[in-house]
Amino acid sequence: MSIFTIFLIILRKKNTIHDVRAALFHTQRNPLSLEEVSVPVPGPHEILIKVKACGICHSDLHLFDGDWNFNLTSRIPGHEVAGIVAAAGSRVKGFREGDPVGLSWIHSFCKKCPACKRKDTALCERQEITGVTVDGGYADYVKAPASSCAKLPPALSPEQAAPLMCAGLTAYAGLKLARLKKGERVAIHGLGGVGHLAIQIAKHQGARVVTLTRSKEKGDFALKLGSDDVINLAEKDAVSGLNELEGADVIFSSSIMPASLGRLIPSLRPNGRLIVVGGGRGTFQVNPVDLIAKRIQIIGSPVGSQQDLADVVKLAEEGKIHPVIETYPIEKVNDALTRMRYGKVRFRAVLTF
Ligand SMILES: [Zn+2]
Ligand SMILES: [Zn+2]
Repeated sequence: MSIFTIFLIILRKKNTIHDVRAALFHTQRNPLSLEEVSVPVPGPHEILIKVKACGICHSDLHLFDGDWNFNLTSRIPGHEVAGIVAAAGSRVKGFREGDPVGLSWIHSFCKKCPACKRKDTALCERQEITGVTVDGGYADYVKAPASSCAKLPPALSPEQAAPLMCAGLTAYAGLKLARLKKGERVAIHGLGGVGHLAIQIAKHQGARVVTLTRSKEKGDFALKLGSDDVINLAEKDAVSGLNELEGADVIFSSSIMPASLGRLIPSLRPNGRLIVVGGGRGTFQVNPVDLIAKRIQIIGSPVGSQQDLADVVKLAEEGKIHPVIETYPIEKVNDALTRMRYGKVRFRAVLTF
């Protein structure tokens, strides 16, 4: 019996930790089920996180709907975790009880594969994924290897920190691959949790930002977030809107409807980059001549590395980016998911505990 099992037994006897709340996904087309589960017991290299906030990512809906190649059954979802260290394993260094801590999509990485050796942990060949292959943060407690966890500044509230763990990280890492130069024009395609942070990060990096959206209300919000221009797709076709601005150097797409992306490629300037971080159902077509003639690159990007995570947390700590959130107590998780499904959330729903 490990010392932490003993620790948890003692806490239970003292009645300081009971069975705790979690929202579980069981099967498609059914709401998540609020249940009592046992507190996970951390191993020697792991920490136990008392979850304070957990963002709801659009990926969660894709996973519940079976859009991606994961066979989810009886799983606690959630990969945008912010909380505090409740217990640390005997071999854990750098975290102490009470420290603010975050956990993202990458739950663990092998440290041995070629990607891990170049510290590109997002591409680890043997990664475990928080809330997908192992239980995640729609729960009072979650455990994870300390090496995957991010230190959080005490000044950042858990509600503000949680969306950085996937939305912020995905936006930051995708824009990093775009190798933005000051003054370049970035078009934001898809304005949700990721897109609203991509606007802020691109602006901070000196880009001119144009946001493509079908909603006047979201367009006005984009301007408040720092977008220089908005193309209202209800009034104007994206291609002609971009062409009026003489094109974009980068199109950053977190859209869950990728079908229109191929049509946007000719609106990229020479050496333009299409960054794709959103994947829903469907595909898009590419005319190779469009790529060749202007030396255009299409770059996919998953979440980022541990360093990217630290970098995006620092941006938030310095006040350069601010997640715009709606909070829901864990008991209201299904209401929050419904609002997200109908595109009502501005811009990230965050569960609180
Ligand atoms: Zn996510
Ligand atoms: Zn690896």
